[in-house]
Amino acid sequence: MNSDMAFDRAHIWHPYTSMTHPQPCYEVESASGVELRLKDGRILVDGMSSWWAAVHGYNHPLLNEAIQSQLKKMAHVMFGGITHAPAISLCRELLDLVPSPLECVFLSDSGSVSVEVALKMALQYWRGKGTERKRFLTLARGYHGDTFGAMSVCDPVNSMHSLYQGYLPLNHFAKAPESRFGEAWNENDVESLEKAFKEHGHETAAVILEPIVQGAGGMRIYHPEYLRKVRSLCDEYNVLMIADEVATGFGRTGKMFACEHAGITPDIMCLGKALTGGYMTLAATVSTRKVAEGISNGSAKCFMHGPTFMANPLACSVAHASLKILKQGEWKEQVKNIEKILFEKLSPLKFLPSVKDVRVLGAIGVVEMHEPVDLPTVQEMFVNDGVWIRPFGKLIYVMPPYIIKEEELLKVTHAINIVVSAL
Ligand code: PMP
Repeated sequence: MNSDMAFDRAHIWHPYTSMTHPQPCYEVESASGVELRLKDGRILVDGMSSWWAAVHGYNHPLLNEAIQSQLKKMAHVMFGGITHAPAISLCRELLDLVPSPLECVFLSDSGSVSVEVALKMALQYWRGKGTERKRFLTLARGYHGDTFGAMSVCDPVNSMHSLYQGYLPLNHFAKAPESRFGEAWNENDVESLEKAFKEHGHETAAVILEPIVQGAGGMRIYHPEYLRKVRSLCDEYNVLMIADEVATGFGRTGKMFACEHAGITPDIMCLGKALTGGYMTLAATVSTRKVAEGISNGSAKCFMHGPTFMANPLACSVAHASLKILKQGEWKEQVKNIEKILFEKLSPLKFLPSVKDVRVLGAIGVVEMHEPVDLPTVQEMFVNDGVWIRPFGKLIYVMPPYIIKEEELLKVTHAINIVVSAL
């Protein structure tokens, strides 16, 4: 191990790993298009888009140019009492894309923070109306981030609520939907949710969920009718609806936003990850004017959140460039082609004894195994096959950059076939 790698191992935390027994890491030297170049010279086709984010690939000329030209003007300036063109252009473009009547944008640092902001908005909205509503209703198997508020609405088992017992806010959980996307709708799916509304609707500030794809909680892809039911129950019980589109937003599921599969609009939408094309950390919480006014007319008279790096101009400028690329619309065809290939090449794996299920939607492909995979071993197999795929638990899944070419994607699906067949 070279000394940099030894230093990394001894001193730097990586996601969800240990300082005493860290998992092996691969040093990436550069990335371009859909390729990651390792320090040892090996080149890997990226199947992960750096966790849903790098939808246009790496080292993109237009995204590079946006940051470089912004850098000459200013890297950052506080957003309190100041505004700037990068934020204004980004928010104009964003509001053009999100379904109406979403029209007020709060920019923050990361997906988790966008969720914290959404939860705080919902709490302050009800406070503003003079009503105490202190609980959230959410779904088992959900994932919304690692900060405390976000964690309190994640699946209690997956996010290990037990580690933080006594410190986490207590919320209500309904069963996760079982009806699969593209298959028959089973009305019983909403029973648990209806019961939760009946029992807790009066104290519930908002429902929060990931539309259509429950990501880090299990990569489950569910029926749009469930979302429509959630919307109508929220209307019936006068509860706000928060759609966490941090992972699903910006085309990943084949629609610009996953809510569009159900034709519904939430009261608050959380966005992140692909917002900047995966270049920088930036998130947005977009609400209706009704929510924004409810907050602003309350006793606090303002929304109590304001991060130091709010609306960072570099991040806004690259996000604006990324949305402009999406607006050209090529992603629709790209995602459709990815879906077709993933479906063709991954579906046959269903028949292997080690495989429990295969699911594909848009540019997302999931192979669920019966048993958790040994991560370091499987990771090394993928790297040796020339692809970057990072499994978790029982899930081997990919969500490649939209620009991936057919032969590159076939390399990814081939590697999955080889690895899964060997397990
Ligand atoms: N919500 C969802 C649906 C996510 O998938 C994630 C990240 N995986 C988050 C929120 C948190 O985002 P971040 O990691 O940027 O804080």
